[in-house]
Amino acid sequence: MVKKEVLKNYFGYVNFREGQEELIDHILAGKDVIGIMPTGAGKSICFQTPALLFEGITLVISPLISLMKDQVESLIANGVPAAFINSTLTSGQTIKVIELAKQGKYKIIYVAPERLDTYNFMEFAQNANIAMIAVDEAHCVSQWGQNFRPSYLKISAFIESLPQRPVISAFTATATSEITQDIIDLLRLQKPFAISTGFDRENLYFEVQKPKDKYKALLKYLKDNPDKSGIIYCATRKAVEQVCDDLMTDGYKATRYHAGLSEAERSMNQDDFLYDRKTMMVATNAFGMGIDKSNVSFVIHYNMPKNIESYYQEAGRAGRDGTPADCVLLYSGQDVVTNQFLIENTNENNDLPPDILEQVKQKDRERLKQMTYYCHSFDCLRAYILKYFGDRAENYCGNCSNCNTNFEEVDVTEQAQKILSCIARMNERYGVKMVIDTLRGSKAEKVLNVRLDKLSTYGIMSNVKENRIREIINYLLINEYLEQTNAEFPILKMTPKAREILFNGEQHIMKIAKEQKPDAKSAKNRMQLNQGLFNTLREIRHAFATMKRVPAYVVFSDASLVDMCSKLPTDSKAFLDVSGVGKVKLEEYGDAFIEAIKAFKQSAVPTEIMQERSAVEILDFVKQSIELSDEPLPILLFIDKINALLFQISDKSIHVKRITDYLIEQGYLELETADNRNNRVSSAKGRAVGISTKTIPSANDTVRKQNFYSQEAQAIIIDRLADVIQW
Ligand code: ADP
Ligand code: ZN
Repeated sequence: MVKKEVLKNYFGYVNFREGQEELIDHILAGKDVIGIMPTGAGKSICFQTPALLFEGITLVISPLISLMKDQVESLIANGVPAAFINSTLTSGQTIKVIELAKQGKYKIIYVAPERLDTYNFMEFAQNANIAMIAVDEAHCVSQWGQNFRPSYLKISAFIESLPQRPVISAFTATATSEITQDIIDLLRLQKPFAISTGFDRENLYFEVQKPKDKYKALLKYLKDNPDKSGIIYCATRKAVEQVCDDLMTDGYKATRYHAGLSEAERSMNQDDFLYDRKTMMVATNAFGMGIDKSNVSFVIHYNMPKNIESYYQEAGRAGRDGTPADCVLLYSGQDVVTNQFLIENTNENNDLPPDILEQVKQKDRERLKQMTYYCHSFDCLRAYILKYFGDRAENYCGNCSNCNTNFEEVDVTEQAQKILSCIARMNERYGVKMVIDTLRGSKAEKVLNVRLDKLSTYGIMSNVKENRIREIINYLLINEYLEQTNAEFPILKMTPKAREILFNGEQHIMKIAKEQKPDAKSAKNRMQLNQGLFNTLREIRHAFATMKRVPAYVVFSDASLVDMCSKLPTDSKAFLDVSGVGKVKLEEYGDAFIEAIKAFKQSAVPTEIMQERSAVEILDFVKQSIELSDEPLPILLFIDKINALLFQISDKSIHVKRITDYLIEQGYLELETADNRNNRVSSAKGRAVGISTKTIPSANDTVRKQNFYSQEAQAIIIDRLADVIQW
């Protein structure tokens, strides 16, 4: 077999992605390699493909124990004999795996670095035919990296102890030259072939929003993107709890993750998300390392992270399967303050000598500044990120909120002059807020106390909105007419360039967003998808996943389902053309999916006709077909049932929030305020028709309320659907 056959037969892909083929060719030629590729670029294929072509066994060293099981399950699902050895196995299980490995039962074995020098493993390795050692997350060997793992230092000794030196391949998403050199030195790679693919992830859409009310903005996003799975990152544990609770109250299937939760709850919640029992994960940055969920459709940052590195890593967890995905950052000025506070008050590096500590802080402040500029930039966001990482980039990508916003060009020369001269008159001793207050003629004590109201520039921009002045100041900062000191309370200073504006009247045209609908996203990445069929396929996938006890994406990624919806294969040959379908998956799942697609094709009413069905007809169909449950149901399950019916004959769906809003309006539910939260609980009128509110305890002493709907209540909802929904 040649490498392309392996790629298709085992992994179901037709073409290699950037960098993959070169790495594989060098490995197959017996050369050491180092691959530097961003998250989601497809590093695994680079060692899994040659592993299947080599005679012997490939050992994959990975620090992420949580990931090994999934990767091995994925391999097995693709027909690759694989196993893992780490601390989650009992010693009996370990012995068994090693026994089977000795019998040549596996092509790929994942192993945790701590296991390398155990007696059992050494003995096995000494006598086995090891063709390659692949070191995943290779930056863990370097002390300069974020995730130094001392046990990675054992790798080279282990390799040297082998009777024959296998090919060594190393992979990482961390790119600095310092770390790359460390990897080469510490793993003792021999003249490695190195490749660093670009950092761009084309399928990711980047957006920055500056909403007044972040929660509302979040809800709007979720409403516009129903049925999608995603991660919502918050800066603090408290914010995680709040947002997660609010989402659940609003009827979303959300769960949460942060370091303050018990180990048991964390692992349960993580599984709920991985296995698609919950569609949304609200989390601090503690969540995500080693999470390889391929069908994450969005990553929303509820708060701005501390630097671009963190942002790109976290945002990069969206769209790993290559389908279009959104990375949305909800910015507020408070986020900057929170991060400044964290920088000044961190204890993390307290054992460093004071001067070094100050240097570290200085670097952190600088990084925070770059992150803040990202949020204020009017230029292509993707280009901003790529340039930050030293990649070359066009100034227009067409797939970020700045490229897709209609800006109008406004001459801000005069306003910039006013701002700069005000800063000059204030002797360059104040921060942004004071400058703005002075320009707008604020009567605040802190302004009057230091007699800023006596300046000739006091109040000269009293008719300009605070936000606009801030935008212009940011523009001057980004373009280096102003700079901010790196201090706890940053002060605005002019650079020598500022003279050009102040004294020489250098003209400045700034891009300012026109008031417009915010969701004018580029159509090219929003595919036309038959939602009904997609959902059917998703259900079939879910059934297989449940049966086999693996996450859904191990069966098929969303990208594969989308491809099925567009190719509509009705025989094995055509099914094999679907991206992600290899021989084993064809045999295992082909029939079920093909049947569903055939049924869809036969019953499919052309979409034009579908849309012509009146709302009345659709609702009649729902009324006649729905089976009410005699067990009281949570609203979510009930709505799921309704939506399943809707999908059969329309492209419509309804949202839980609509229903609960309606029930409040009609007095069946009422708001109860507790713990600063609004719970929707049953009222007397609601109880009369069998809506009951149950209290569900959860961790950290918070309680959650859930309503159950009796058959009578279900009937009422169905009966009133026409009032609730305005299509
Ligand atoms: P990384 O380890 O670099 O973060 P993965 O190896 O997990 O990325 O791959 C990310 C996703 O891309 C996986 O779903 C994988 O199956 C898919 N993938 C990898 N190579 C290809 C390819 N050549 N064509 C299509 N999809 C691919
Ligand atoms: Zn762009």
